[in-house]
Amino acid sequence: MQTVKIAVIAGDGIGTEVIPEGIRALEAAGRQCHLEYEWTHFDWSCETYHKTGRMMPEDGLEQLKAFDAIYLGAVGFPGVPDHISLWGLLLPIRRAFDQYVNLRPVRLFDGVPCPLANKQPGDIDFYVVRENVEGEYSAMGGIQYEGTEREIVSQQSIFTRHGTDRILKYAFELAQSREKKHLSSATKSNGIYHSMPYWDKRVALMAQQYPEIKVDQYHIDILTANFVQMPEHFDVVVGSNLFGDILSDLGPACTGTIAIAPSANINPEKTFPSMFEPVHGSAPDIAGKNIANPLGTIWAGAMMMQHLGYPEIHDTLLNAMESVLRNKNSLTHDMGGTASTQELGAAIVEQIHYGQ
Ligand code: ATP
Ligand code: MG
Repeated sequence: MQTVKIAVIAGDGIGTEVIPEGIRALEAAGRQCHLEYEWTHFDWSCETYHKTGRMMPEDGLEQLKAFDAIYLGAVGFPGVPDHISLWGLLLPIRRAFDQYVNLRPVRLFDGVPCPLANKQPGDIDFYVVRENVEGEYSAMGGIQYEGTEREIVSQQSIFTRHGTDRILKYAFELAQSREKKHLSSATKSNGIYHSMPYWDKRVALMAQQYPEIKVDQYHIDILTANFVQMPEHFDVVVGSNLFGDILSDLGPACTGTIAIAPSANINPEKTFPSMFEPVHGSAPDIAGKNIANPLGTIWAGAMMMQHLGYPEIHDTLLNAMESVLRNKNSLTHDMGGTASTQELGAAIVEQIHYGQ
C-alpha cells in the first residue's frame, strides 16, 4: 500500500469547516485505489497569531518541506490585518516553495444555477493560469513625505524574463494538451508602460513555438467583459499575479458560486511541495454556521491527487461531485439548497462508495 504525506493547514473561519469534508472525501476515494494518507495537522491561523505574534512558527517552512503536498483551508480573519495573514503564511509558502503556477479551473456544472442567461453545462470549461510569485504582488516601493500634504506612495511590479517565460510556457503546454488549443493572455499594455508590453512581447515570441495554438491577447478590461458575455469562448487564460487573481474570482462567479472553485499553487518541477486550497477565503460572515460549501476544498483535494500522480482519485472525486450536483442532492445554501457542510460532504462520500 502506498502512502502520501499531507500537511493540513485548516486555518481560519470556514477553512476549519470545509477541510474535514475534503479529508473525508479524499479518504473515501483513496481507499478504492488502495492509497493511504498520513495527515499532519498544523494549527497555524489568525488565532495562532493572537497567541504568539506569528501566523506560523519561525521554522514553519522547514517543517512543511518534507511533505508531499499542503492542503489549506483559508487564512485571514477580522482583527488581523490582511497583510499579516497573507505575508505571514500564504505568500511565504508560495514563494519559498516556488509555487509559481496558480491553476484555477472554471466549470459550469449541471445542477448549479448559472447567473448568466442561456448557458448550458459544458459551455463554460476553461482554466485560469495565474503567475503566482512575482508581478504586482511585491513589497518594493514605499512612502515619501509621510504624514504631510506631499505624501507620495510608489509600488513596484517585478516581471523577470525567467518568471514570465515559465508561466507562459506552463499555459502554452496546458493549451497544447486541450482540444480547443486556445490561449488568451491578459494585460493592460495601453495603460501600464513597461511590464505589460513586455509580457505581450514574450507571449508573441513563445507563440512561434506553438503554431497549433490560437493565441488572443486582450486588455484586462475587455477580457472581464467577455468572461461575462461569452465565457464559452475561453480555454486557457493566462495573466499576471494581479490580473490572474481577479479573473479567477470572476470566472467561478460566472458559474454560479465561487465556493466550488479550487486553486492549485503548483511547483511544476516538484522540487518542493505544492499547495491546494479552495479559491474562497475564510468567509467570516458564515463561519460557525455549518453552511459552508465544501466542494471547492474537495475539488482542490482532487487536483492535489492529480498532481501527486493519482489521476484515478481525481476522476473519482470529480465524478462524485458532478453526480451529486446533477441530482441536486444535499446542496448548500450558496447553490440554492438547505444542506449543511457535513450533509454535502456525506453525500459526496456516499456517491464515491455506492454511486459509480
Ligand atoms: P479573501 O480575502 O480571504 O479571499 P473574501 O473577502 O474575498 O476573502 P471570501 O471569504 O472568499 O471573501 O467569500 C466571499 C463571500 O462568499 C463570503 O462572505 C460568503 O458569503 C461567500 N462564500 C465564500 N466561500 C463560501 C463557501 N465555501 N460556501 C458558501 N459561501 C461562501
Ligand atoms: Mg477573495
